[in-house]
Amino acid sequence: MSGCIFCKIIDGKVPANIVYEDEMVVAFWDANPASPIHILIVPRKHVPTLNDIPDGDAILGHIGDVAKKLARDLGVADTGYRFFINVNRGGGQVVFHLHAHLVSGRDMGTKFIKAAIFLAVGWRKLLKKLGSKG
Ligand code: AMP
Ligand code: ZN
Repeated sequence: MSGCIFCKIIDGKVPANIVYEDEMVVAFWDANPASPIHILIVPRKHVPTLNDIPDGDAILGHIGDVAKKLARDLGVADTGYRFFINVNRGGGQVVFHLHAHLVSGRDMGTKFIKAAIFLAVGWRKLLKKLGSKG
């Protein structure tokens, strides 16, 4: 579909870091990763949301198979990963070409919060030390 960013990636008109492709799907690294591993698995056919997939369509099972394969290849199949589809605005969907997220590794937000807590505790300790000297 013209104007769709994922169709443009599939057609090779917009660059992406493609990790896997076959006759049904293309998988590439998310441009704004939420975690060290964040891959999008996208059907070649333009379908806006999960709601538009007919019951029994083979695409969902295939996306799951590709997610399992990529998780194995990336070494996170046993340690764990998240696999999800956002549906419509209320479900967090931003790009209206169906896609599944494969996310793994430590959450960067959690890392940042932990670092901030570490610094705040250290700062309080330092202030206490200086206060007890004065
Ligand atoms: P969603 O919120 O489920 O629609 O997810 C859309 C995802 O697409 C977001 O995680 C974006 O970071 C990602 N994204 C948007 N544009 C691009 C792009 N050109 N290349 C790779 N990922 C993209
Ligand atoms: Zn599209």
